[in-house]
Amino acid sequence: MAPDDASTGLYPLRFSHLTGCPDLVHGVFDRKGGVSRPPFDTLNVGFSPGDDPAAVTENRNRILSYLGLSRALFLHQVHGSDILVMPSENTDAKLFWKPGMPEPTVCAAADGVVTDLSGLALVIQVADCQAVMMADPQKKVIANVHSGWRGSLENIIGKCVDVMTGRFGCRPKDILAGVSPSLGPCCAEFIHFRKEIPQNLWQYKHPVRDDFDFWALSRDQLMEKGLFREHIENLYLCTRCRPEQFFSFRRAKKTGRFACAIGLL
Ligand SMILES: [Zn+2]
Repeated sequence: MAPDDASTGLYPLRFSHLTGCPDLVHGVFDRKGGVSRPPFDTLNVGFSPGDDPAAVTENRNRILSYLGLSRALFLHQVHGSDILVMPSENTDAKLFWKPGMPEPTVCAAADGVVTDLSGLALVIQVADCQAVMMADPQKKVIANVHSGWRGSLENIIGKCVDVMTGRFGCRPKDILAGVSPSLGPCCAEFIHFRKEIPQNLWQYKHPVRDDFDFWALSRDQLMEKGLFREHIENLYLCTRCRPEQFFSFRRAKKTGRFACAIGLL
């Protein structure tokens, strides 16, 4: 049971369908409630952007404490489409970050992770890209995916669903998905889209502007894999439009990363 919000200073956003699942905790932790100084103020969980490591450690401590989990898995996010499979028999403990650790652990280079391990927070670090959390409450399997525009083009979300079904026996109709705050169709401008984005995805471009709706693409990628429309939630919050609430790389290159976390109790 998470401590009440007022006592922690953390006010994570949640997806309503995941909130209803027993034995599951999750949250989108915005930039409030941490100890980092500008430009990483305040709840930055990324060591790599150049923040004070002690502040990052304290911020991560607060999030794990809030979730009631004892360890976390942070990925070395490389804008690829590799999915790390972390089955319950896996005991590769050096991949896990634990409260108080002053630096990153050995991070697997991957942009998605699937597990049925309990007590472990799967954390995606965000500053404009999407974190897509997934859970199968029947099989008790969870996933978290980092899908920036490159990941969207490679359909890392679809690949993650394939891992959940192929390796863990999940049924698509049981999978719930939540899309984090990220660059919205208001701000995902690609002036070089003719070179960067394949033509079959130009249907997601605004009719006049060079902005793309990657939220719609993620929804379609999930539905192509058999997820129900009503099992896909999006908070519809654009990171670039809300600088007081979220870190945004497009708005401020030197900035922090906020945490999107999911875990089984
Ligand atoms: Zn926007």
